[in-house]
Amino acid sequence: MSNRTETPVTVIGLGLMGRALAAAFLKAGHPTTVWNRTTSKADPLVAEGARSAPTVGDALKAGALTIICVTDYRAVHELLGTSDIELDGTMLINLTSGDSAQAREAAHWAERHGARYLDGAIMAVPPAIGTAEAVILQSGPQPDFEAHRSTLEVLGTVTYLGADHGLASLYDVSGLAMMWSVLNAWLQGTAILRTAGVDAATYAPFAQQIATVVAEWLPGYAEQIDGGSFPAEVSALETDARAMAHLIDESEAVGVNAELPKLFKAMADRSIAAGHGGEQYPVLIEEFGRPRGD
Ligand code: NAP
Repeated sequence: MSNRTETPVTVIGLGLMGRALAAAFLKAGHPTTVWNRTTSKADPLVAEGARSAPTVGDALKAGALTIICVTDYRAVHELLGTSDIELDGTMLINLTSGDSAQAREAAHWAERHGARYLDGAIMAVPPAIGTAEAVILQSGPQPDFEAHRSTLEVLGTVTYLGADHGLASLYDVSGLAMMWSVLNAWLQGTAILRTAGVDAATYAPFAQQIATVVAEWLPGYAEQIDGGSFPAEVSALETDARAMAHLIDESEAVGVNAELPKLFKAMADRSIAAGHGGEQYPVLIEEFGRPRGD
């Protein structure tokens, strides 16, 4: 049953993610208006108490805030960019995935049309929406975020990152870089150990322990990066590079793929060639901070 004291919300885009977002609002008692290009996707939500708006323009007028979650920014502009859409005075929260330039451009565009705009990224799969596991990143003007924070918290764990509208998508891709790097490192070790008959399940707890220990180094290494000074307090980059060579040699000797360790050894070798061999690992930020070959 919907509690009519909750903030009315609109959800535009009822794909897998948009449906999960609308369902979470409904479950939390928010009067929820929905719109989707393929109208039939609204039916299950209407059966649960949502109101289906006949047009995007009607949907925008129905809620105190409008969440947009469609395939990409091109679809956002196709939806909202037509002349009959009145954006003046609306609060748009765009949870569509895109890059930071698209987010900043969309913010300027929305502001030019008199709308308030927050950009966001969802770091979760649809079934996690409505639980603390769903990480929802937000960037844009803080007063707008604070005004709608409690409504957004219905969707998951909401984190405000700053006024720059591009931050949510930048954190999103940075989080993905972390995720894939950890997974790829684990797969490299798993492939090596399987050649000796060690199964993935046996190696996984050991890998987890290493990942946890390494994660604890990050704040101290971040201080070195922010301070621009990389004294070798525990190990020098050239020592790491020698260990990387062992990893490459062992991978090749047991017949598994060595592309990944060769890639990070090539970066370390460039840094050593530039005179940083005696410094600590985070000095590699200088290699990561510019395009290859510059
Ligand atoms: P989806 O199931 O493919 O749904 C796409 C939605 O966009 C549908 O509502 C579709 O309408 C609509 N759409 C596409 N082009 C349109 C256009 N030109 N005009 C109007 N509507 C248009 O995708 P999804 O999984 O819901 O993902 C939506 C967004 O959430 C994406 O940006 C995605 O990256 C992000 N996201 C998804 C996940 C996930 O696990 N699913 C996780 C994190 C972030 P129709 O129904 O009419 O086709």
